[in-house]
Amino acid sequence: MGRYRPVIAVTPAYDSEKGISCINTGYCDGIMEAGGVPILMPLTVDHHVIDIIIKKCDGLMVTGGPDLDARLYGEQNYQFNGEISPLRDEMEIYAIRTAFEGGKPILGICRGIQVINVTFGGTLYQDIYAQSNRKDMIKHSQSAPRWYPTHEIIIEKGSKVWSAFGSEKAAVNSFHHQAVKDVAPGFKVSSRAPDGIIESIEHETDRFVVGVQWHPEHMWKNDGIYLELFRMFVDSCKQGC
Ligand code: MN
Repeated sequence: MGRYRPVIAVTPAYDSEKGISCINTGYCDGIMEAGGVPILMPLTVDHHVIDIIIKKCDGLMVTGGPDLDARLYGEQNYQFNGEISPLRDEMEIYAIRTAFEGGKPILGICRGIQVINVTFGGTLYQDIYAQSNRKDMIKHSQSAPRWYPTHEIIIEKGSKVWSAFGSEKAAVNSFHHQAVKDVAPGFKVSSRAPDGIIESIEHETDRFVVGVQWHPEHMWKNDGIYLELFRMFVDSCKQGC
């Protein structure tokens, strides 16, 4: 069991103009570094194909990308909602449902936390700056190298994110203008930025179904602490949650 390397399905980014699906190497490299074997999924809305891939894999990683169609959480698309990818929306929502029903661990990163939340009935801020009244909003679209942490998070003691950092405070990078608004039933907030913006959610049970708003895939090569979430995810994939 100790030497078993779990196979993890990774959702692809998609350039609809060029017709190219691809992914930043930090996701798959991080899974390998943490002891897993990543498989980059094809971009498809064929449910049967997704069923087969999820069944053969031990876990699912949902990657960063564009905004969701706001109608998926019961809102119109406001002028400040960004680019949307209908194919990724459909593919990822179905993949998350299938993996969840199959008892597979799920890690969502950036767009990934947002798709997880919407899949289970939560909502999003279409634009945190336009929709928050707070005057002390911090900069969540950083102008700094991608590996560099620019804001702090305050972490719920006892959560999985807390276990990953070994602390109630950490610093993360930030490349998002959307965020979780109403948390989906069955999930809890495990960290927030100092301005209250939700930075991670986790399933209420012990199951590893975790979403984070920051980008550990850009950080772990510079600082190993950011690989810990990948390690916990890969380890839970070994055990089937
Ligand atoms: Mn942020």
